[in-house]
Amino acid sequence: MKAVVYENFNLAPTVQTVPDPTPASHGVVIKVEASGVCRSDFSGWRGHDPVISLPHVPGHELAGIVAAVGRDVKNWRVGDRVTVPFVGGCGACRECYSGNQQVCDNQFQPGFTHWGSFAQLVEAHHADLNLVGIPDNMDFATAASLGCRFVTSFRAVVDQGRVGPGN
Ligand SMILES: [Zn+2]
Ligand SMILES: [Zn+2]
Repeated sequence: MKAVVYENFNLAPTVQTVPDPTPASHGVVIKVEASGVCRSDFSGWRGHDPVISLPHVPGHELAGIVAAVGRDVKNWRVGDRVTVPFVGGCGACRECYSGNQQVCDNQFQPGFTHWGSFAQLVEAHHADLNLVGIPDNMDFATAASLGCRFVTSFRAVVDQGRVGPGN
């Protein structure tokens, strides 16, 4: 596949041909149809996120079509339209059991802990826990905005600012 790769922090990324990802037993590979650009991608490229190892493919605001499915995945099939949250949970730690997968102790973050969506294909782990189906009437670019920028803004305004219905 083709991917945007940086070999070192603060150096210009290049488009390279790299091996296609294969799904983990609990994961899927997604054909990327849309990917946002986020300030967190910039912070990562600057070297400010210690989970990133080099060389690296950024990108975490993604939506696409399931292209390959791991053998233990029950709920998803090739061809499903999906997106993922910025932080994926493991489903097996204290935080995940408490319903707080966004602060999972073993989190999966495309574009940070693993290669991301500035690529033709991207992996997602623990697909039955983390994938979110996209309604037929929602385009991929809109869906790609939900997992990071929309939830961040929503929680800032509604939960922290207490502005909105019921507040
Ligand atoms: Zn983001
Ligand atoms: Zn977890």
